[in-house]
Amino acid sequence: MRIPLLDATDKSRTRIHKSHRSHKSYMSHSHIYGLFCESRADMEPRERGRATFVAGILLAGYIFASCCAIAHAGELRAGAGRAIITPEHDMWLSGYASRTAPSEGKVHDLFAKALVFEDETGAKTVIVTTDLIGLTAAITSGTARMVEERFGVARERQLYTASHTHCGPVLKNNLEAMYGLDENQARIVADYTSALPGKILAAVAEAMNNVEPVSVSWSVGHAEFAANRRRYTPDGVQFGVNPIGPVDRDVPVLAIRRPGGPIKALLMGYACHNTTLDFQQICGDYAGFAQAHVEAALPGTVALFMSGCGADANPEPRRTLEWAQQHGKELGEAVLKAAQATASAVHGPIRAVYREIPLELSAPPTRDELERQAAGDDVYIARRARTLLEQWDAAGGLATTHPYAIQVLQFADSLQLTALAGEVVVDYSLRLKHELGKQNHYVIGYANDVPAYIPSLRILREGGYEAETSMIYYGLYGPWAPSIEEKIVSAVIEMSKEQ
Ligand SMILES: [Zn+2]
Repeated sequence: MRIPLLDATDKSRTRIHKSHRSHKSYMSHSHIYGLFCESRADMEPRERGRATFVAGILLAGYIFASCCAIAHAGELRAGAGRAIITPEHDMWLSGYASRTAPSEGKVHDLFAKALVFEDETGAKTVIVTTDLIGLTAAITSGTARMVEERFGVARERQLYTASHTHCGPVLKNNLEAMYGLDENQARIVADYTSALPGKILAAVAEAMNNVEPVSVSWSVGHAEFAANRRRYTPDGVQFGVNPIGPVDRDVPVLAIRRPGGPIKALLMGYACHNTTLDFQQICGDYAGFAQAHVEAALPGTVALFMSGCGADANPEPRRTLEWAQQHGKELGEAVLKAAQATASAVHGPIRAVYREIPLELSAPPTRDELERQAAGDDVYIARRARTLLEQWDAAGGLATTHPYAIQVLQFADSLQLTALAGEVVVDYSLRLKHELGKQNHYVIGYANDVPAYIPSLRILREGGYEAETSMIYYGLYGPWAPSIEEKIVSAVIEMSKEQ
């Protein structure tokens, strides 16, 4: 199916833009000046001088407008903004089932950050990053509606992602089977989650307010601390360090510069779980420290972090604040170095495609099985079973597919960002980079929705946490059907080629 590239708003803007250009074609510089010259002959010398002065001002204004307000082919304008999203009170932190108490203060603030691009057609594209465990479909769709209403940006032109810090707040409807929240904590989580779209909107509004002409470039650095975490043992795949397992250690850097060279914003990525830390303080982990490192080195710059396909990678070493700071410094230095190195120019127009495809789950459990699990000793399996029984009662059965969000942003032929929902394993990044064969391409994970882990067929066959047990915490029965990898890869390839 062919996806429309522009929404109604974009089309009307294109029309306005075109009519502006045709106006330019017959209103030449001499035409403006001539309008004054024709009537100057019968003026007094003083009036003539004043008219010449006014004509000069108008001509200068016209030339300025021609140069600055009308974008030329490929030109991009951009804005960047941020909003603090640190919880105002201590609350339950996300990502680990082993926690038994709410947070105890913060190391630094958490942020929602926004990058807005405006291309030569006048269409705007928004990229939002957050220092959070993962945005749910409900959060992103709610925010997207607000951004569309206020700024006229269509859904396919809005990309939302999260750093996957495990020292950020629990969000409603995310990993619910993992936590045993009491009524008070559940209310705090619900309040925090419902306030989030408004805070993200504030970051987008700030970015919209400083959209200006920019030059954009793409470069790729390298950082070493990501390690494959799937260790093969006689008892199956266990957490650990697998020195021969696949990883993607690229550090992609999208640098946005103001005219003359100063850096306005840097969008950086890394494909590795943001899990150096597991303590009780609010913190952005290595991704938070990397953003802070770049912003300290380049005052006034907004540094944004997008996670790659690092679901089966952990930072090494880990578990101390010093290591989180060290990894952040390593990543931040790699970003600064890449931003100064030889880079490819990135230009518009920006093409955007967003789809939700049905991903199949394996055969569902019977009602008897779920009732047995709900009464069983395993607290996490029992919680999931209760959630599934509620869904069964509401819908008369269990859904056998789950809507899976995929998004492609193409900056003409100069860069592709592919955004995949969920905790995506590295096989997708390596395969899509190879199969699409594009020079400049990055695959973002944790994008638009985080419904579960997204294992490849290889990992599904091998088993382990990313294939099986993680489904318990996400409240889905599982595992995914073996069709998962081909479905996602073929959808991305199709979406990348539609013109
Ligand atoms: Zn994770």
